[in-house]
Amino acid sequence: MNSTFDAVVVGGGPAGATAAQTLAERGYQVLLLDRAGRIKPCGGAIPPRAIRDFDIPDELLVAKARSARMVAPSGHRVDIPIDNGFVGMVDREVFDEWLRERAAARGAQRHDGTFDRLSRDPDGLSVVHFTHRIDGAEVQARVRTRAVIGADGARSRVATQAVRGDEPAPCVFAYHEIVRRPAVAPEGYDPARCDVVYDARCSPDFYGWVFPHGDTLSIGTGSADKGFSLRAATARLRADSGMANAETVRREGAPLPMRPLRKWDNGRDVVLAGDAAGVVAPASGEGIYYAMLGGQLAAEAAVELLRTGDGKVLAQARKRFMKAHGTVFRVLGIMQWFWYRNDRLRERFVKICEDVDVQRLTFESYMNKELVRRKPMAHVRIFFKDLAHLLGLARV
Ligand SMILES: Cc1cc2nc3c(=O)[nH]c(=O)nc-3n(C[C@H](O)[C@H](O)[C@H](O)COP(=O)(O)OP(=O)(O)OC[C@H]3O[C@@H](n4cnc5c(N)ncnc54)[C@H](O)[C@@H]3O)c2cc1C
Repeated sequence: MNSTFDAVVVGGGPAGATAAQTLAERGYQVLLLDRAGRIKPCGGAIPPRAIRDFDIPDELLVAKARSARMVAPSGHRVDIPIDNGFVGMVDREVFDEWLRERAAARGAQRHDGTFDRLSRDPDGLSVVHFTHRIDGAEVQARVRTRAVIGADGARSRVATQAVRGDEPAPCVFAYHEIVRRPAVAPEGYDPARCDVVYDARCSPDFYGWVFPHGDTLSIGTGSADKGFSLRAATARLRADSGMANAETVRREGAPLPMRPLRKWDNGRDVVLAGDAAGVVAPASGEGIYYAMLGGQLAAEAAVELLRTGDGKVLAQARKRFMKAHGTVFRVLGIMQWFWYRNDRLRERFVKICEDVDVQRLTFESYMNKELVRRKPMAHVRIFFKDLAHLLGLARV
C-alpha cells in the first residue's frame, strides 16, 4: 500500500463512499478505510433527489413505495399517495458495497481496517493508525495523509479525537428486525406502502415503521428513552402488521444522531461527514441522502484544502450544508419536539396529515429536498389549520 495519500476517508458508508468517489474523480490519491463485516441497520428509504443526484441505478432499488400510511394512537389511518414518483428502498448490504465499489472503480483505493487514532508526523502531516488482518492475525498499520475525512458514523472516533468544541450529538437509538415476507402476505399488506406509526406504545418520542424491502421488510422503532423496550415495541408492530410469525432474518440497532455538530472540522486537515457530523433529519431519522451530500461537500472542501493548503476552507462543508438544509432541520426539530410529546398531539398530527396541502408540501419537500416556495397560499392555509389544531379549535 502507498504510505502517503492526498486523503484518507475513514468509514465506507454512504458518506465515506461518496467522499472517496468525489476525491478520486478529481484525480486525488485517496484511501477508503472501512471496518468490514457489519451491515448497517437501516430502513433503507431514499428520496428521488438522492437517486437523481448520486446516479443510483434502478436495480439497486429492492422496492418502490408509492404511498405512505400514517397510523395514529387510536388506530386512525391516513393514506398518502406519492404523486408522480416513489420512495426508493435499498438493501444496505448491497447498496453500501456498490457505493464502495463505484468509488474504487473511479480510482479510490479500498482497504479493510479499523481506524484507531490520529497522530502527526514532525513535518505536520496527519498519520492515520489502523488495525487490519493479515493471514488471520491482527496487525497495526499507519498511513500518512494531507487530509482526513471522518465518515465513521454516529459516535465517530475521528470526531472525538480531532474535532473539539462540541458535545456529542443527542441520539435516538433505533432498532429494527429484518423479516422475511411470508409466502402468503397478511391481509392488507401492500408491498408498495410504507407504514409510519405514531403511538406511545411504539415510541414515547419517535415513531415506529413497517417498510417493504421486496422479499423482506424492515420493522422497527426508535427512542431516546433508554428505559423503553424497543424489542417489545417492535414485537407489537409485527403483531399489528400480521408479521408476528414471519421468519426473522436479523435483529439489530444503532444510534441516530439528532443534531448537526457545531463544528465539522479541525481548521487544519480533518473534516466530518454524515452521521459523524450529526446530520440525520430530526422527526424522520432520514440520513442516507444527507450522508451522501455531506460526503460530497466534505470531499469538495478537502479538494480546496489540497489546492490551497488553507485549513480554513474546510469550514465550507458545514456552511454549504446548513445553507441548503439548515432550515428544514430546524423545522423538523421543532416538529419532533412538539408533535411527538404525547398521544393527544400525535393523534392531531396524523389528523393534520389528512390535509391535501400538508401532504403535497411534505412529500414534495421530502422527495426533492427543497422547501416548496411556489405555493404561498397553501402555506397560508396550512398555517391557519395548524393554528386551529394547536389551539384545539379543530376536531380530532
Ligand atoms: C434502524 C435505523 C433505520 C434507519 N432508516 C433510515 C431510512 O429508512 N432512510 C434513511 O435515509 N436513513 C435511515 N437511517 C439513518 C441512516 O442509516 C444513516 O444516517 C446513514 O447510514 C449515515 O451514513 P454514514 O455513511 O454517515 O454512516 P454509516 O452508514 O453508519 O457508515 C459508517 C461506516 O464507517 C465504518 N466505521 C465505523 N467505525 C469505523 C472505524 N473505527 N474504522 C473504520 N471504519 C469504521 C462502518 O463500518 C460503516 O461502514 C436509519 C438508521 C437506523 C439506525
